[in-house]
Formats: sequence, structure tokens, C-alpha cells
Amino acid sequence: MELTFLGTSSMVPTKERNVQSLLITYKDEGILLDCGEGTQRQMNIMGMNRNKITRILISHWHGDHVAGLIGLLMTIGNAKEGKKIHIYGPKDTKRHFQAMKDMCFFYEKLDIEIHELNPKGVEKFFENQDFELYAAHLEHSIPVLGFRFVEKDVYKISKEKMKKFGLKEGPMIGKLQREGKIVVKGETIKLEDIADLSIGKKLAFIFDTVICNNCYALAEDADVLVSEATYGSEHEEKAEAYKHMTVKQAALIANNSSAKKLILTHFSQRYKTTGALEEEARTYFPNSLCAYDFMKVKI
Ligand SMILES: [Zn+2]
Ligand SMILES: [Zn+2]
Repeated sequence: MELTFLGTSSMVPTKERNVQSLLITYKDEGILLDCGEGTQRQMNIMGMNRNKITRILISHWHGDHVAGLIGLLMTIGNAKEGKKIHIYGPKDTKRHFQAMKDMCFFYEKLDIEIHELNPKGVEKFFENQDFELYAAHLEHSIPVLGFRFVEKDVYKISKEKMKKFGLKEGPMIGKLQREGKIVVKGETIKLEDIADLSIGKKLAFIFDTVICNNCYALAEDADVLVSEATYGSEHEEKAEAYKHMTVKQAALIANNSSAKKLILTHFSQRYKTTGALEEEARTYFPNSLCAYDFMKVKI
């Protein structure tokens, strides 16, 4: 699994940073979180295949998070006619998306399905055999969602344990993985007898918000917490006025929710470099770092 930061600025793109977008790649899935203006070109510069996007999660309908949507979808549509893409977002996502399409000649080449989410607490909205996706409302000037990606725990076969039961690789092991148990010479062998449980990774994504209870709930025990941190603490009043968070607040969420790693993003254009922000974050949560455009994180 890999995270790619395609844009790490808030509101205004700078020479160094584009506006918001982040991609999770996991097996056959490409999950794009927000799609600020220019996101498809950011992918182009990185040599990433845009056609691999399967789901787009929209945190909220502020321009810096969505203005690149139509262009990206048109490009994918030209290359992959009929491809299914799921778009998830807060209430009124259907209306906003329709308005975007009406703004230009949008050719309906893709099979787009829109899902409006209205979660109660942290609520699951998608599941497949590998992972689950959750959303929760956060608190911003307009409706906004935070997200959580939870990889499922899986049993991984241990060759040492197989030996103990005199088992060799072959169809019996496949059957054991599928059915959870097999009978060998009258003895029942369970999957957990010959396999180790590998705990799935948890990722949390907190975009534009003030600090609120759902921030902690989304971030609980996360292996990686990605959080907006628009300002350093010197601008705490501004953060409150514009309904954003400071670096310190994001670090305290990571600390209080037992997250393992914190990645900060969505920086105000006033910060030409992020060394001081990173230093501040580390005083409250040592395993913190500031994202930059084109940063990749393997998980
Ligand atoms: Zn924003
Ligand atoms: Zn916003």
C-alpha cells in the first residue's frame, strides 16, 4: 500500500505546492482523496496512471479540494470508456457534481456512481475482501467529511507451523485458507493452527476542520494519521476564525488517539518552508512530518 501526496497547499497553489489531493494505491484500487485544480497534471508529472483510479472521496466542496474533478474524469473517460468510478462525498455532492458537469460540455463516457454520505459517528460506507472505508462528519464552514481506511486482518501461513502438522504446500493449504479448517488423518487442523494473524493497517484522513470529537474517533490507533494543519500555533486565532487546525492541534489528536505516525498537510501559502512547523509538531508528537508534493509513503 502506498500514499502519494499530489497537493499539499491550502486554498492557493504556490510554486512548490499544488492544492489538495492524495492517492491511496492498494492492489487494484486507486482511491483519490480530494481533487484540487491541476491534480491530473500532478499525476502526469509523477508518471502515474490516472486510469487506475477506482474511487474518489470528496471531503467537501471547497474549490481547492474539487476543482480538478471534471478535467480528471474527462481524461480518464477518453482513455477508458465505460470504466466504473465511484464518487463519495457529503450531502449535496450530486447537486454540486451536476453543476460542475453543466459548466462545460462533459461527455458521459464513464460509468460514474455518486454516493452521498451522512454518517452517524464513524460509519462504514464501503467494504471488500481486503479493506473497509469509513467516514465521519467534521466541523468546517461547510459540510465536511473525514475518512478512515482499515485493512482487514489476514492469516498468513507459517511454514514452520505447517511442518509441525506434517503439512506440505499444495491444494490442502488452499482449502484450509478458503474454508478455515481441514481434516487430515482424522485430525481437524484449523487455519489459526498453522498461520499467524497479520493485523491490517489503519489510515485516517482529517481534512478541513476545527478540532472535534470525530477527529479523535477517526484517528484512533491509526498507523498513519494524515491531518490538515493550515497554521502554526502563532495563528491559532486565524485557524479558529477560518475553521482550520494548527500544527499543535493536529499533533495533540495524534497523541491522544494513539496514532503511530502523523503526516501534516494543507499548509497556508504563507509557509514557504515547513521546517518550523515540523519542529513544533514534534514537540507534541515526535513521529510527525510535513508532507510535500510528490511525497510517497509506503505503508
Ligand atoms: Zn481546504
Ligand atoms: Zn475548506
